[in-house]
Amino acid sequence: MTTTATKHNVTMIAGDGVGPEVAEATKDILAAAGASIEWEDAVAGKRAFESGVASGVPRDTIDSLSKTRVALKGPLETPVGHGGKSANVTLRKLFEMYGNIRPCVELPGIGGPFAGRGIDLVVVRENVEDVYAGIEHMQSPNVAQCLKLISRKGCEKVLRLSFELAKAQGRTKVHCATKANIMKLTEGMMKRTFEDVAQDYPGIEAHHIIIDNCCHQLVIRPEMFDVIVSTNMNGDIVSDLTSGLVGGLGIAPSMNIGDDAVMFEAVHGSAPDIAGQDKVNPTALLLSAVMMLRHFGEFDTALKIEHALYVTLEEGKALTGDIAQGRPAVGTKRFAEEVVANLGKQSEKLTERPYKPIEMPKVDSSLTFVSPPAKRRDLGADIFIESGDLPAQVGKGLDAIAEGTPFELKMISNRGTQVYPVAAAAFDGVDHHRCRFVLRDKSAAMTHAQLVEFLAKVAQTYRWIHVELLPEFDGAAGYSKAQGED
Ligand code: NAP
Repeated sequence: MTTTATKHNVTMIAGDGVGPEVAEATKDILAAAGASIEWEDAVAGKRAFESGVASGVPRDTIDSLSKTRVALKGPLETPVGHGGKSANVTLRKLFEMYGNIRPCVELPGIGGPFAGRGIDLVVVRENVEDVYAGIEHMQSPNVAQCLKLISRKGCEKVLRLSFELAKAQGRTKVHCATKANIMKLTEGMMKRTFEDVAQDYPGIEAHHIIIDNCCHQLVIRPEMFDVIVSTNMNGDIVSDLTSGLVGGLGIAPSMNIGDDAVMFEAVHGSAPDIAGQDKVNPTALLLSAVMMLRHFGEFDTALKIEHALYVTLEEGKALTGDIAQGRPAVGTKRFAEEVVANLGKQSEKLTERPYKPIEMPKVDSSLTFVSPPAKRRDLGADIFIESGDLPAQVGKGLDAIAEGTPFELKMISNRGTQVYPVAAAAFDGVDHHRCRFVLRDKSAAMTHAQLVEFLAKVAQTYRWIHVELLPEFDGAAGYSKAQGED
C-alpha cells in the first residue's frame, strides 16, 4: 500500500439539513489525518431550488465537478410526492455516474440483532436507468404510468463494475438480484447480461437470486453475501435494508461512480428533525470520504482514519445518540474530536482488505451497442384506450372498428390481466385498456402507414392514449403477454 503526497481537488457540496455539520466534522478529521485535499465549495439542493434553479444543481456546481471530477456530498432535500426532481438524481445522471456502491460492514461497538455475525458485503446498484429514468405520464385522470427502461449497455456497465469491485477488494462472490421471474424483458435483461458477463470473470462465483428471496436471505443469513448487484429501484431498497443490518443510516457510506466523475455521499438524508442541533452522526460521510481516499490511492490515510474510527466506536466513550445505546451521548463535534484524538491508534477489530483501485470497465459506448437482429418485423400494436365502458363493450366496439382492416383485436387487458374476449374470474378494472391488435396475415410485417390509418379510425370512437409496437427480433417476441393470454 502506498500514500502519495498529491493534492486532490474535490468539490464539496455540504448539502441541506444535517449536511453542513457532517461535512465540517469530516473535513476536520481528514485534515487531522494528513489528507491533502483542496476543497471547492459548491451548492445543490434546497438552497439552489430556493434561489430559482429549477434543477437544484446550479451551473457553477456542474462546472466545478466537471473540473475536479470528484465530489464529496452531504444530503440534499427533495420534496416528496410533488414538486421538483431530486437534485441527487440529477447530479448522478448529469455525470452518468452509473454505479452506486454501498458497503455494509459490521462496525465494532454497534449493537443490534445482527451484531457479531461479521457482515461484510457491498451492494452495487445501477444508478441511472430503470423507473428512476423518471419518465411518468398520466394515462387518464385515474391512472398513472412510469416507464421502466433497462438497456443491455446499462446492465453490462454496472455488472462489469460489480465484478471489477470484487476483484479490487479481494471478494469472491457476486449475486445478481432481479425480479426476472415477473419482468422477463426488463429485469430479465439484467439476468441474461449477468450470465454473459460472468463468463469473463471465471475466478469469481456468480449467482442469480430473485430480489425478494435476496431480502429474505439477507435477514436470515447475511454472511452468505459478498457483492450484490441489482437494478436501480431494487438496489435502492436492498441497500437501505443492508444499512439497517449493521446499525442504520448514520453509519452507511456510498459512492456514485462513472467514467467522467465520482461522487461520495452518506446514504442518509438531511434528517431535518435533528439538523443544527449538533446531534448527527458524521460516520456515514466520514466512511464515504475514506472510500474517496482509496479512490485516490491514499490507502494509508484511509486505513489510519478507519482505525481511529474503530477505536472510537470500540471504546464507546464519545458516541452520538443514534449509536450510544443507553450510554451518555455526545455531539457531532465532540465525536469528531474523539476520532481525531484516536488517529494513530490501531484497532484489532479492523480486518484490512487488500484494496486496489477499481479497474473501470470498458464497455462499447455506441448507441446501438448490440448487433442488430438479422430479421425484425412488427406483428401489430398495443393501442391503449381511455374508456369508462366495461371491457366487453370496448371489445365489441373495437371488433367492429377492425372489420375490413388488416387488423384483428387479439385481446384486451386491464392492468395486465386479460379481460376480453375471455375475462378474469373477478374484475375491478380502471379506465385504461390495453387493446392488442395483430395483423390478420400472420406472415406479414405491419407498416407504420397501416398503423397510422388504423389509429385514425380508432380515434373516431375512442380516445387512444399511447401505442406500443409488437416487435419480433429473429423470431422472438419483443413484448410480454397479458396475464391469462394464450
Ligand atoms: P433521513 O434524512 O435519512 O432521516 C431519517 C431519520 O434517520 C432521521 O430523522 C434520523 O432519525 C435518522 N438519521 C439519519 N441520518 C442520521 C445520522 N447521520 N445520524 C443520526 N441519525 C440519523 O431520511 P428522510 O427523513 O426520509 O429524508 C429527509 C430528506 O432527505 C428528504 O428530503 C429526502 O429526499 C432527503 N434524502 C436525501 C438523500 C441524499 O441526499 N442522498 C438520501 C435520502 C434522503 P431520528 O429521528 O432517530 O433522529
